[in-house]
Amino acid sequence: MGKTPDFQVPMSTELYIDGQFMAGEGERERVLNPATGEVIAQVPEASYEQIHKAVLGASRAFDSWSETTPMERSRLLLKVADAIEQRAEQFARLESLNCGKPYLRALEDEIPAIVDCFRFFAGAARCMTGSVAGEYLPGHTSMIRRDPIGVVGSIAPWNYPLMMAAWKCAPALAAGNTVVLKPSEQTPLTTLMLARVVAEILPKGVFNVVCGRGPSVGQPLVEHPLVRMVSLTGDVSTGRKILQAATGTLKRTHLELGGKAPVLVFDDADIDAVVEGIRTFGYYNAGQDCTAACRLYAGAKVYDRLVADLSSAVKTIQMGTQDEAGVELGPLITDRQRDRVASFVERAQMLGHMEVTAGGKMRSGSGFFYEPTVIAGARQDDEIVRREVFGPVVSVTRFTDPEEAVTWANDSEYGLASSVWTQDVSRALRVARKLQYGCTWINTHFMLANEMPHGGMKASGYGKDMSMYALEDYTVARHVMARL
Ligand code: NAD
Repeated sequence: MGKTPDFQVPMSTELYIDGQFMAGEGERERVLNPATGEVIAQVPEASYEQIHKAVLGASRAFDSWSETTPMERSRLLLKVADAIEQRAEQFARLESLNCGKPYLRALEDEIPAIVDCFRFFAGAARCMTGSVAGEYLPGHTSMIRRDPIGVVGSIAPWNYPLMMAAWKCAPALAAGNTVVLKPSEQTPLTTLMLARVVAEILPKGVFNVVCGRGPSVGQPLVEHPLVRMVSLTGDVSTGRKILQAATGTLKRTHLELGGKAPVLVFDDADIDAVVEGIRTFGYYNAGQDCTAACRLYAGAKVYDRLVADLSSAVKTIQMGTQDEAGVELGPLITDRQRDRVASFVERAQMLGHMEVTAGGKMRSGSGFFYEPTVIAGARQDDEIVRREVFGPVVSVTRFTDPEEAVTWANDSEYGLASSVWTQDVSRALRVARKLQYGCTWINTHFMLANEMPHGGMKASGYGKDMSMYALEDYTVARHVMARL
């Protein structure tokens, strides 16, 4: 097993509850460096009493935080953004260590997007619009208010821990809510570091972090009667559990669940651009991305060339540890996730009609590495086409009838992201209109902007992250009427 380099990162393992840092009173959770398998920290999880204390603190803080002006919240969120930016290298270092991501990707791609998320919502807080006030009954004036909801319990996944924390907290706080955030038990470290930063800026109780596993910490948070809304980014099965747990107290829920993004490549597409795009967007973050370009449908005329060129290109992706020169692809988050990915590929190979044209193997030695993989000859009913792998595996399916390709693309329980590749603008727009996905890209994939909503349809959930729509999700529309 390789040795974890001495990264000199300020690492905190303490929870942040009602303005106080404290050790968790529950079981210790081991946090690993996925590139070596080494334990980098032990984070004790929150006890039920600590969860309760965090929620009570957030509930008390709501009274005053919800009374602050948008200008005041905006000023503080801008300070949070600046503080993250000032510590960009430390945050990127810790994120890359805990997730196995290439350091430069964390530093250059993720941190600027996270900083911008706080800045966007700092501005958006001051620009929330509602209907104008008016008289809809004689002698009565009505107005619409958009008010914060209360304590939001936010539950985040492990693939982009700090970014998910930002996507959840920035709109919730901007709208005047208070937050109790539970990061993934596998990747709590940057969220705990965020708490250190926020503690210097936001009032006590407004932002809280409790760590631990789903059943022992997530579920009690969801069930707590003073938590008024729950926001989850995670697996579809977790979404179902959270919905069930939320029924007892009839909470609002905001769910961002999995994906299996179809990529429609028509015969007139620029194949070089497709290959370059999929080489990047199919394998970014080792494919552990709910929008990953993982399910290709290729027109019959371009299918052979696409498979050949993509396979050659994917073989050049450089896999390695966080700081290796030129590294593009890191390990998977755990050995369990790597084994899961491997078992998908094995089952696909056993069916006989599919061919692994690139990758298809675990890397021996330490760390949870799996080679970037292309599987050609996949059919619509194959498991590899239907289920989310959440790893560096892209399947390619041939189509002859463009209408059928759109039907196949929509024939999925998921509905998060999709893309269309063609040089025909009319076709691109026609197909984009028909796709039942929260996002459709044309001749690209994966690109996000804080001004634009991100969220799904069908089993991918219904919460919107980023954009004014997220701010709406974290507020309630209210009617106030006065008799004149
Ligand atoms: P996961 O569902 O296993 O865990 C997500 C979070 O939920 C973790 O913090 C976990 O501890 C918590 N959790 C688990 N069971 C719980 C329960 N019963 N009650 C309360 N909380 C519980 O997901 P993951 O493995 O961390 O992340 C991968 C999944 O997230 C993938 O399916 C991926 O597609 C999805 N994802 C979706 C988006 C999106 O924007 N739609 C973004 C990133 C990841």
